[in-house]
Amino acid sequence: MRFMAWFIGAFACLVGFQVGAQETVTRNLITNVHVFDGVNETRIENANVLIEGNLIAEVSSEPIAVDGAAVIDGEGRTMIPGLIDVHWHTLYCCNPQSTVVTGDILEIAIRGAQGAERTLMRGFTSVRDVGGNSFAIKKMIDAGEIVGPRILPSGPPVTQTGGHFDYRPYQAVPTNPADSQWYWYSVGLMAMADGVPEVTKRAREIMRMGATQLKISTGGGVSSTYDPLDVRQYTRAEIEAFVEVADTYNTYVASHTFTDEAVRISVEAGVKSIEHGFLMNRETMELMRDNDVWLSVQPLLDDEDGFTFEDPVSQQKWIDVTNGTDFTYSTAKEVGVKVAFGTDILFDPVLAERQGAFLAKLQRWYTPFEVLEMATSTNAELLELSGPRHPYQEGPLGVIKPGAYADLILVDGNPLEELDLVAMPEDTFDLIMKDGVIYKNEL
Ligand SMILES: [Zn+2]
Repeated sequence: MRFMAWFIGAFACLVGFQVGAQETVTRNLITNVHVFDGVNETRIENANVLIEGNLIAEVSSEPIAVDGAAVIDGEGRTMIPGLIDVHWHTLYCCNPQSTVVTGDILEIAIRGAQGAERTLMRGFTSVRDVGGNSFAIKKMIDAGEIVGPRILPSGPPVTQTGGHFDYRPYQAVPTNPADSQWYWYSVGLMAMADGVPEVTKRAREIMRMGATQLKISTGGGVSSTYDPLDVRQYTRAEIEAFVEVADTYNTYVASHTFTDEAVRISVEAGVKSIEHGFLMNRETMELMRDNDVWLSVQPLLDDEDGFTFEDPVSQQKWIDVTNGTDFTYSTAKEVGVKVAFGTDILFDPVLAERQGAFLAKLQRWYTPFEVLEMATSTNAELLELSGPRHPYQEGPLGVIKPGAYADLILVDGNPLEELDLVAMPEDTFDLIMKDGVIYKNEL
């Protein structure tokens, strides 16, 4: 698929050149920049970058002569690919938990749309939405009606009864077959399914809604009340049923889980992306590495950005989980499991503004180059697991090279030397472009 995308990208670039004489393609020439291409630690010094339409056409240290291009002098800034967050919740990020659980879908969606614009303005040009009903927001962003990042939506994350996305109150059980679906299940904010037949049906419904991958929970969660962290969720047969439906759609399953046993069974059942994994030991990470399974982990710490939960049970679980963060990152790096970057910021639009600061926290374990590579080309590689369900097939994401999508940022300074620059995008990201369109330009 990567090769295919490359080929299509190169072809589109060629077409752009040929029709250029008829002035049908918008051209932007950004001069005088040092390019971090998403892959190589050494910047391409004093480069010029030509963007034709929504794709990068040329990157060169030599002057690029082109007619009819809008020229932007980068004044020695560093150009980096647009950032990618692979554990983002378009709707949950920016609504209080009480609103997600008791509010109207319109209120939740409007806050989600506002949050999507803010996400792009922080330089995150792509996100993998790992739970929530972001289909309409994605559609309107792609159509240019509202502003936001590219979204690879998982749709409603699926839980078993009593699992991580079962936020129903204590009195909600026992149920009987005549009970109507809970509000947030009927509006696609979350989904619940028990047993192989129901799991299979629900998974197909979510793919029909437009999911690019499935998100399930196979172990206890923090923000939920009735599932202690040690609890495994879904039987092996149920997990395999999710995986098989995803496979029929040529995509994969991502699963929320923390503990060794829950991760091991998920991996054995075919899950390809483990979300969180903070309570795993080294052997489990080796199992993931040997099975080509991604560790999608977040720099969640009980620090100044620590989450606050209304429920004391959740607050204690937060402490238990974040105690594992340091071990998880340092051991994952030693073991060599594929690590992706995400934030999982929840229920707080103010905290969401710290998305870039979360990225900068990776300095505890990685060099600035390793961090920037992870949040660009490496994360883009994880997105490619969606195969033909990946919505953006014209060129690669997360890199700056001919044929790639023109998703890029001009940073005032060199983040390869000073990673903290990504923590304050409102001051340091002077130009933000997505899909060839400039959303911010302070040059
Ligand atoms: Zn999450």
